[in-house]
Amino acid sequence: MINTPNTHSPKNWGMITAFAVVAAILISGGYYVYSRLTSLSTNIATLSGQINSLEARMSSTTASLQNNISQTSNSLNNALNQQIQSSAAIAQQLGNYQQQVSTVSTTVSTLQKLSKTDSQLLEKYSKVFFLNEYYAPAQLVAVPNDYSYSDTKVLKLQNEVWPHLKQMIDDAKSSSVTMYVFSAYRSFNEQSALKSDYKVTYGSGTANSFSADQGYSEHQLGTTIDMIAPGLGGILDNFGDTKQYTWLINNAYRYGFVISYPKNNTFYVYEPWHWRFVGVKLATDLHNQGKNFYDLDQRTIDTYLVNFFDAQ
Ligand SMILES: [Zn+2]
Repeated sequence: MINTPNTHSPKNWGMITAFAVVAAILISGGYYVYSRLTSLSTNIATLSGQINSLEARMSSTTASLQNNISQTSNSLNNALNQQIQSSAAIAQQLGNYQQQVSTVSTTVSTLQKLSKTDSQLLEKYSKVFFLNEYYAPAQLVAVPNDYSYSDTKVLKLQNEVWPHLKQMIDDAKSSSVTMYVFSAYRSFNEQSALKSDYKVTYGSGTANSFSADQGYSEHQLGTTIDMIAPGLGGILDNFGDTKQYTWLINNAYRYGFVISYPKNNTFYVYEPWHWRFVGVKLATDLHNQGKNFYDLDQRTIDTYLVNFFDAQ
């Protein structure tokens, strides 16, 4: 009997089994690894999908937030602009009101000034329109002796006119032109008595021509003076030939005084010594325009009443 090696011997079975076991282990391990890998890959895919989705959501949320911020910022800007515009409108309105209040208060102060200024002070007087016999200036002050020609007679002047006259006489004196007040305020009765004297001396015809009828006289206003120069012996007649007269013609307007009856006037006899206070503004305008007080119409003159006592 030949001893043929039997491939199906128990020894081979053992190896086969061992291979089979190893193969099974390898196959199942590989499968395990494969399935784990597959699962991991699935997980990674899922995670990646989630990340993508999160990114997409974040991006959309960010865009939406930016949009909201931009909208809110726009509305805030609009609200602010509206606020600014309405503030500007309110400020404008306030400005208008202030302007109106200021205009009204100016009008009120002008009216108050007018109501306190005696309208007679700028009246033109004539033989048909004259001062009431009961008229008297609101307040008179005595002209100091240094300024008065007479040592004994007390001359009086409207109290607000006096500072203008004093300044005029002082300034003239500074230019070596000395002059004195010869006559100032005269009451109706004094004027009346004076005229009676003139009538006695010269007869009524002459008296009428150089001494205004009582009441017509501007002296009753308390704003009018007769000026005299030294060396005339107390006589007014030649005052028109003096340097005092020339100085007054050139400068009196700056103090508010005008000559009422200048040379060649058609209204009354020439009275170079007779000066009336009409306010600096009117006197200056008359001087600049080469006009006389009595040449203006009363309505034009009245517009100066509010500035009557103003310094300029
Ligand atoms: Zn006079």
